[in-house]
Order: sequence, then C-alpha cells, then structure tokens
Amino acid sequence: MSRWENVAEIRKSMKANNVVKMPGYSWLEVGNVVHKFRSGDRIHPDLASIHEKLKELETKMKLAGYVPNLEYALHDVEEELKEQLLLRHSEKLDVVFGLMKVPIGLPIRVFKNLRVCGDCHTAINIISAIERREIIVRDTTRFHHFKDGLCSCGDYWYVVKPC
Ligand code: ZN
Ligand code: ZN
Repeated sequence: MSRWENVAEIRKSMKANNVVKMPGYSWLEVGNVVHKFRSGDRIHPDLASIHEKLKELETKMKLAGYVPNLEYALHDVEEELKEQLLLRHSEKLDVVFGLMKVPIGLPIRVFKNLRVCGDCHTAINIISAIERREIIVRDTTRFHHFKDGLCSCGDYWYVVKPC
C-alpha cells in the first residue's frame, strides 16, 4: 500500500469510528451459557456481586496507576457520574464476571459488538496484571490478548466514541 493510500485508509477508519452510535454490549461464555451485558447493565442477575467486585478492583487499579479516561464517558453528565458510567461499560462487567466464574488458569474470553474503548483497554490491561489473569477480548477489528499488563496489539492507541 502506498503512503497516500495509507493516509486515505486511516481517514476512512477515523470517519467510521465517529459515526458509531450503536449501543455497546459484550458477552462471554461460562459453562456453555452465554452471559450478555450492556453498558450500564440492569438485567443480569449477578449484578450486585459484579458491582461489589468492581468497586474492590477499582481501588486496586487506582493504586496501580489507573486514571479513568473521562473522554470515553458520555459528555452530558456530571464528572462523578462519568466515572461510574465508565466503570460499567459492558466489557468491564464481562471481565469482572469472568474473574468470578472462569476457573483460574483458563483465559477469560470476551466478545464485543463494537471496538473496545480506550478506557476499557487500559483498565483490562491493568486488571490482567493485578489479577494475574489472561484476558482475551475479540472486538470488531481484532483480538486483544491481555497478559501481565500488556496487550498483543502493542497497546495501539485509538480514538473510539463511548461504548
Ligand atoms: Zn469502555
Ligand atoms: Zn489491545
């Protein structure tokens, strides 16, 4: 691919990212049952324990240097709420559910209907390190294989609208 074609490709994919307005959801399979979460899910029966585990993880993540990237939160809400909404993006809920249900030693495999957002990418990276779990997120463009705080995509940074 020539340099100019490359630039055109990048522009095209940036444009595509800007028009993504679909609601974000993701899922994982535990013991042949598919568990689906929406961002800010209110339906899954285990939400109370998931939120509890999330809170506990949030403290550990912040100690490890995690700073919520509010650019990925909805814009028309108050700062404090932004952090809470960000924490409840569907792929974070899936990962936390996976931490609770997938036997230690097995990877946690999550699928996402959109591209994983930048904040979730950072958060899942940190979670893989502090919880010592292998986490694989398949989004619409690639596999992200998180292990010991590194992702197979090389932490490639991209700009995606909130999930
Ligand atoms: Zn996210
Ligand atoms: Zn990645």
